[in-house]
Amino acid sequence: MIIASNFKTNYTRAGTKAFVQAIQAYIAQAKSRQQVRIFAPFTALDRFGEHDNLKVGAQNFYPVQSGSYTGEIGFQQLEEFRIESVLIGHSERRHLLKESQAFIAQKYDFAKAREVEIVYCIGEPAEIRVQGIDAVMSYLWEQFEGIDVHYDRLVIAYEPVWAIGTGLSASLDDIDDVLSRLRAKLSKPLLYGGSVKVDNIESILHVKACEGVLVGTASWNENAFCEMIRIADHVNK
Ligand code: PEP
Repeated sequence: MIIASNFKTNYTRAGTKAFVQAIQAYIAQAKSRQQVRIFAPFTALDRFGEHDNLKVGAQNFYPVQSGSYTGEIGFQQLEEFRIESVLIGHSERRHLLKESQAFIAQKYDFAKAREVEIVYCIGEPAEIRVQGIDAVMSYLWEQFEGIDVHYDRLVIAYEPVWAIGTGLSASLDDIDDVLSRLRAKLSKPLLYGGSVKVDNIESILHVKACEGVLVGTASWNENAFCEMIRIADHVNK
């Protein structure tokens, strides 16, 4: 399974290095079978000598190799650190940073052409959720506009906006309902994200179509993140 941590705007360069080293040591000692991802801030990217099953990824990029885009980070800067995994479509970028679906699709095509792993995030806000599952699914399908769902290195993360950073995870029934509807049409790994923590990760990983998690807040403590990897190793999937 894929167990991913999204640092968002947290951790310094030194703190990230210490975190990555601690997770590397844990994975080696526990002989973990999980594919672990750590989406670090740009300023902390480096070559960490990752294991095959631990990759440090980028939370964002501007869809250019290089050029005159003041303040942006292109692929030349990611390639310096051999970044092989990127997040696209995270709700904080869609809603707070106002990225449009057209721009998200442009970023997706750019990353796809570079053949990196794409963790593509989708999720509905609370006002859609209250309208019921049909409204939720139409909202989610619209987030696939312009997205090649057949791309080899695509991983999809379903993250309801109202569950992100709120401490309120979606119910297991709701996760199951959405993931199985996605599974009926998509053949890529499906992750759940939204207030995943040590206390609920096991039951979430038992949801049939769930192949991993994307964790924000609860992953920022390295012991808690190691514990989540340990629990994933004990879920027989
Ligand atoms: C996220 O940022 O993708 C996320 C799921 O955050 P949290 O775990 O804090 O809800």
